[in-house]
Parts: sequence; structure tokens; C-alpha cells
Amino acid sequence: MTSPKAESEDREVIIGRGEGENESCSGFQGLKFDFGSGSKSRTKSFHPPIETHWCLNSSPGKKASSSIKSVLSYPLAKFRKSKSLKMILEGARDPKDKQIVESFREMLIQEDLLPPKHDDYHTLLRFLRMRDFDVSKSKEMFQNYLKWRKEFRVDVLPKEFNFTEYNEVKKCYPHGYHGVDRYGRPVYIERTGMVDLNKLGEVTTFERFIKYHVSEQEKTLKVRYPACSLAAKKHIASTTSILDVNGVGMSNFSKPARYLFTEIQKIDSCYYPETLNQLFIINAGSGFRMLWKAIKAFLDARTVSKIQVLGSNYLSVLLEAVDPSNLPTFMGGNCKCSDYGGCLMSDRGPWKNPEVLEMIQV
Ligand SMILES: [Zn+2]
Repeated sequence: MTSPKAESEDREVIIGRGEGENESCSGFQGLKFDFGSGSKSRTKSFHPPIETHWCLNSSPGKKASSSIKSVLSYPLAKFRKSKSLKMILEGARDPKDKQIVESFREMLIQEDLLPPKHDDYHTLLRFLRMRDFDVSKSKEMFQNYLKWRKEFRVDVLPKEFNFTEYNEVKKCYPHGYHGVDRYGRPVYIERTGMVDLNKLGEVTTFERFIKYHVSEQEKTLKVRYPACSLAAKKHIASTTSILDVNGVGMSNFSKPARYLFTEIQKIDSCYYPETLNQLFIINAGSGFRMLWKAIKAFLDARTVSKIQVLGSNYLSVLLEAVDPSNLPTFMGGNCKCSDYGGCLMSDRGPWKNPEVLEMIQV
């Protein structure tokens, strides 16, 4: 389907890595879209979905989880204030991971690199996974993460940052969390093809938009995942995303678009590693596919394996991952969220359930 002409046009888009950013973060991070040399192929080992690190059914012969299993059939209210609640939120830990997380943790403590509030098993495990369990590379990444949090003032964002232009932004950048996938993970939807960057620049600044993105990421880690874990009664630690790229092609990828895209991807892959379960790109036309070919060359194999690029016949694939009740009608599902002004305005999900929220606070 790619004509010879398209091939030659394709070569005009040369994407290179930013200098000094070899390896740093996989994902889209560090991409330069103007000059640069060709791709280098990278192969990384694949990891199963992050939730399997807390798989409740451990290996055969291990007694492990009968007590946890029985808990899973309880109604929510029954395990309020119980040990089981903690177990669901924290998940069962794989002994193999536990050992490496513990030695990573000790190493960080010894080097005074682990402030108590970041001393969190899941966070450390995510950084280790992202670096294929290479402790020294994970340490470097974790160090950068702490430095960034301080510089970006992430911890004081909820107090200092008020995104008053939220409603206006939603109109020109339609996106939002919407329900859960069949496993219980939050679903993030973005109508990328409908983004009006000029308008976005009028109602907010890119700097503020990025702050908003970070505050949403924090909310996902601190509220959405725990809430989804409780609702699904199993540990949930990643997101299923759907991007509708209808009409997106090279011409949309203007300088401001590239800037925003690379900044956000850098933040996501460097500082929120391993939080993407799967990404469905839907309504991809030939223009997008050309763009995608150029971007894909720079993604590591693990990231690419999580992304499916689909055309207009995407629905059956999406429905395997997401129940129609959690999919907006504009994507072929049943949901309208009419009371909230549409699905992308509702932020519907277990994280909106007061009972669940109360339990997270316990
Ligand atoms: Zn809806």
C-alpha cells in the first residue's frame, strides 16, 4: 500500500536521538525530528504485563494465594479495614522480584538516594523493569527521576497548580480517562485527530499543559490505580490507551506539535516508566502510517510490542480489550456519559466511586 513516491517522501523525515541521550529512556524520549542519523536497532527482552508481577496465582506447588483468592470473591464492603485491603492494594510479591527490589533498595539507601516518601516497592520495581533489571542503569534512571521531581516541584503541584482552563482545553484537545478495560485497568482515550494546537496555544501555554499532564499522571498512580485495584480486586498498575488519529499525517506534525509530543513522551518514559499496558492507535490512514514508520524505528522493541496501529476496522480488536459499556459511542461502544457533557468530560471510573475513594484513604 505504500507507493514508491510515499517511500521517498518517507525518507525525508529523519529522526535522530538527542545527543547524550543514548539509552536514557526508551519510548519516544530524546527524539529529534529535524536532523540526525538513521536508526540503530535495539532489542530488549520482553516483559509480561506489569500486573503479573503481583500475580495472585503463583507458580505451581506454591501454597501462596488461597487466602487471597477467597478474598477476591468478597464484596467490597467486606474487606474494608481488613488485611485483605492492604493485600489487594499492594499485591502479592514475586519472590524473585522481591530479592532484586530489596538489593536495589539497599543500594539506594546506602548512597542516600532514597527519600522515605519514595521508598515504595512498586515504584522501584517499575524502574528495574524499565532497565531490564540492570541495577546500575535503574539507579541512574531513578536518580534522574528524583532530580526531576524536585525541579518540577511535582509534590507541590496539587497545592500550587490550578488548571482553571481545563474546560477550554478539553474542547480543543479532546481526551480523558474513561472507564476500565476488561482486566480492570483505567482506559485513556484521546481524539488526537481533533486536536487544535493553535487554539490550545490560545487557551493555555504548553508549559501549563505539561504541568496538567504531570498532575494527571500523579493522580493515575495515586488514585486511579488503587481505585481500579479495589474495584477489580486485584492489583492494577498500568493503563490501556486508545488514540484516534483520524486525519493525522505529516502535515499535522508541525514544530509545536513535535515539541509537545516529545516533551510529554519524555516525561512519560523517563519518569512514569512501565505504566502503559497497551496502546491502540485507531483510524490510522496512509498519512499517519508514514509518520508512524519514522517514529517506530526509534522505539525499543518492548514499547512497539505494546502498540497496535489499526485502520478504520478497529472495533473488533478494541472490543477484545474493552467492554462496549466502557467505550464511547463515537468509537463504536455504548457509552454516552450524557450527564457529564460527553465521555471525555466524565472521567468516569472506579476512582470516582466515593466508597472506593474512602477505602483508599484508610
Ligand atoms: Zn462515557
